[in-house]
Amino acid sequence: MRVRDVRFPTSRTLDGSDAMNPDPDYSAAYVTLVTDGGTEGHGFAFTIGRGNDVCVAAIESLRSYVVGSDLDGLDLGEFSRRLTHDSQLRWLGPEKGVMHLAAAALINAAWDLAARRAGLPVWRLLSGFSPQQLVDFVDWRYLTDALTPAAAVDLLTDAFPGRGTRTAQIAAEGYPAYTTSAGWLGYDDAKVTRLAREAVDGGFDMIKLKVGADLADDLRRFRAARTAVGPGIHIAVDANQRWDVPDAIDWMRELAPLDPYWIEEPTSPDDILGHAAIRAGLRTAGPSGGPIRVATGEHVHNRVMFKQLLQADAIDVVQIDACRVAGVNENLAILLLAAAYGKPVCPHAGGVGLCEVVQHLSFFDYVAVSGELSGRRIEFVDHLHEHFVDPVSIVKGRYAAPTRPGFSAEIHPEALSRFAYPSGAEWA
Ligand SMILES: [Mg+2]
Repeated sequence: MRVRDVRFPTSRTLDGSDAMNPDPDYSAAYVTLVTDGGTEGHGFAFTIGRGNDVCVAAIESLRSYVVGSDLDGLDLGEFSRRLTHDSQLRWLGPEKGVMHLAAAALINAAWDLAARRAGLPVWRLLSGFSPQQLVDFVDWRYLTDALTPAAAVDLLTDAFPGRGTRTAQIAAEGYPAYTTSAGWLGYDDAKVTRLAREAVDGGFDMIKLKVGADLADDLRRFRAARTAVGPGIHIAVDANQRWDVPDAIDWMRELAPLDPYWIEEPTSPDDILGHAAIRAGLRTAGPSGGPIRVATGEHVHNRVMFKQLLQADAIDVVQIDACRVAGVNENLAILLLAAAYGKPVCPHAGGVGLCEVVQHLSFFDYVAVSGELSGRRIEFVDHLHEHFVDPVSIVKGRYAAPTRPGFSAEIHPEALSRFAYPSGAEWA
């Protein structure tokens, strides 16, 4: 197991800037699993700079659970539980924060390894498991008041007959995407206008803007973007946790005439009842009396919080993140919960490598879990893909289906050394 601190100096151009994160340096606590057979597994935790070293240390603290594992006997359900239930390390969470990011990096690396050994991209590997096998990958503790393993098997069994048809369809057509590239808070109006127009010309039917720092600025930027794209294009907005509950409702009512498609992370990600109150406050706030949807998830720490957000009917859109919760296994639990509650999943992506990894979960969700595309899009941000061995491919506003074996998480060796922190050429 090799762990590296890799940081990209994105703060120099304000890529990724928003109301709470004005100067991110997109970073990866990057793991390589090396095996006697020569196959490698790659995974990472995503951070925005400072603290990436803490993540590296957290991954190192799990070393004894990883090194020496027998590949042929490796049960990825058991492996994920092993990494999240060390009785002493669990004190640092439980199942949240830096230890959970560390577990995610290792669990996703193990899935990358398994998919490479199978000669399949992760989404196709997952889509080949039986309903019972998929359910056995999930840690069901704390979930059974909302969804039981037996009900999850039923849900997956209902979706089973259509898998072949949907696999062929999604492999040919790709998965819908939306883009945030136009909307960073640090961009001036001319840049927002130009990028919004380019997005629509490129085939996107939805874009997202960052909001929440200054109402007058938000209104001006939103108007510029709306004018650029016209009324038929969805424009979502993202406050990155900036507001208290009443502020969120008031602010969104001001933006409502511009027809925001959803408000993302309006308040603290931990505030489940706050999200429910905001959603209730915006049910008829849209321009024609419809709802302004509420979306969250990129900072929702684990399956238990997603369960509560769904039980409280606090969100309209479930935003999984490939690297925030404990990897494929916990995201599988969240996909099952979302399907059981009938809520669309629109993954959070961007950063470095998040698009590459999370696309596999959406393709799999369509094939084997929800069987739905309606209201579903994967976020796309056009940064740093050139550093990946198997970068995402966007064609006319859709993610093309990944075809290479693995999880698309591998960064080119030259980039790993150039952006190594603090000694790589870029930082030294
Ligand atoms: Mg966001």
